[in-house]
Amino acid sequence: MGPRVAEATGIRFETSCNVLVIGAGACGLVAALRATEGGADVIVVERDRSPSGSTSMSSGFIPAPATRYQAALGIRDSAEQFAADIQKKAGHEADPTIVELVTSEIGPTLEWLADKHGFEWLVLTDFLYPGHSANRMHAVPEKTGAGLMARLLSAVEAADIPIVTGAHATTLFVRPDGVVAGIEVERLDGAAERIGCGALILACNGFGGNRDLVRQHIPAMADALYYGHPGNDGDAVFWGAALGAATRHMGACQGHGSLAHPHGILITWALMMEGGIQVNTQGERFSNEHGGYSEQAVAVLNQPEGIAWDVYDARVHKLGLTFPDYQEADKVGAILSSDTAAALASRMRVPPAALDETLATVERFHRREEQDPYGREFTRNPGLEPPYYAVRVTGALFHTQGGLAIDRSARVLRIDRTPFVNLFTGGGAACSVSGSRIEGYLSGNGLLTAIGLGSITGRTAATSAGLLR
Ligand SMILES: Cc1cc2nc3c(=O)[nH]c(=O)nc-3n(C[C@H](O)[C@H](O)[C@H](O)COP(=O)(O)OP(=O)(O)OC[C@H]3O[C@@H](n4cnc5c(N)ncnc54)[C@H](O)[C@@H]3O)c2cc1C
Repeated sequence: MGPRVAEATGIRFETSCNVLVIGAGACGLVAALRATEGGADVIVVERDRSPSGSTSMSSGFIPAPATRYQAALGIRDSAEQFAADIQKKAGHEADPTIVELVTSEIGPTLEWLADKHGFEWLVLTDFLYPGHSANRMHAVPEKTGAGLMARLLSAVEAADIPIVTGAHATTLFVRPDGVVAGIEVERLDGAAERIGCGALILACNGFGGNRDLVRQHIPAMADALYYGHPGNDGDAVFWGAALGAATRHMGACQGHGSLAHPHGILITWALMMEGGIQVNTQGERFSNEHGGYSEQAVAVLNQPEGIAWDVYDARVHKLGLTFPDYQEADKVGAILSSDTAAALASRMRVPPAALDETLATVERFHRREEQDPYGREFTRNPGLEPPYYAVRVTGALFHTQGGLAIDRSARVLRIDRTPFVNLFTGGGAACSVSGSRIEGYLSGNGLLTAIGLGSITGRTAATSAGLLR
């Protein structure tokens, strides 16, 4: 059965809780931890047998300003500075209230995860992601989304919060006054169960896994490979439409212009930020690689065959090897290397003279003899030197950033801007802070709003559930 909303009157629930969370990704698990801390009894429902979500597929890098981890490294940063970076990338289209909310929530939330739940955080200092004015990417020591997810699941288990897996939420039961009374889930064997709640948190991410919705809202990515969790197929959008909820910035998303192809392994954008370039199958550059990896997905897909090559050198390769995904790409043979540009070109099957000319031109940009017509500043990094390295990549859709509009408490808003009293959302299900376009995504906006809004929804839902009971 597809997602639907039904009248709650007369519905009996087999079990009930104060706060019910749909989706066991970063948003749902942080929300569950916060709501439990607020005194609520919480149930999380998850459609998969084993929770993973896009969170465990991610690199797990979370931007947070003014943390004690930054301070220990002498990094100066503030919520205001981070908010300015977000708005600059989003073309000042992001809702300032939500930007202010998440930029001030995320740092204390990471510290709370450390203090209360034993998380360890490190700050990535090897390079700056496009658009960030300070080193503020935090990661668990494994530097993977899987490592982040494992820690969240351990914390939830330690807090005795039940996660009902293999439970696909299909129906929201809503009273005539707009209060959500509970949901129906479909179990793997097709059986239906009903769970009542004092407050409901939609943490089921966006609509990247729904090709029709992507085609409708993000036509530039209609035929792009979707590299996020397939179960994120837009349920929050359908429930929102049935409830008369407002959606915002549905054209926004996180794309990525560097997914090893055909291997399907994320190649860190650090390669580009530290001196690498992208060329097409003709051996020619086609863009400013420092604009951002999200919009670069479209730039790559617009090249012949939708293919590009990341080209760099041994220094950059060494940096790449500090990332688990890149190590994996190296292990499976996705990374090529050769002592000369001509030899590399023939392995890449691009015209050797063209690649040679591209590298020579880039060298002139480094020496300030010419200006890059695409506007990239090359003098911040050393020039590329043999031996050269290359990896074949394509553009992909990672997750959607538009979604349900929310207020300061992360309550879902109706089209007339009044809030649903006990319906909350965060992460990919909510409208994020990337504005309306693909180029508005500042790296980290995904986990920023998953963890930041997860924290806020958990706290406010616990309070709201108490009031409603
Ligand atoms: C390859 C990749 C790399 C990324 N790297 C980063 C990064 O380094 N930093 C960053 O900030 N962001 C990154 N992102 C984005 C980030 O992963 C997401 O923004 C974030 O994980 C969203 O968290 P979430 O909790 O909203 O969703 P998810 O983690 O996807 O969790 C949603 C859960 O809801 C479940 N679900 C869906 N519908 C239902 C239903 N009807 N009933 C029950 N359960 C349901 C799903 O099965 C899923 O488990 C990356 C994404 C990808 C794909």
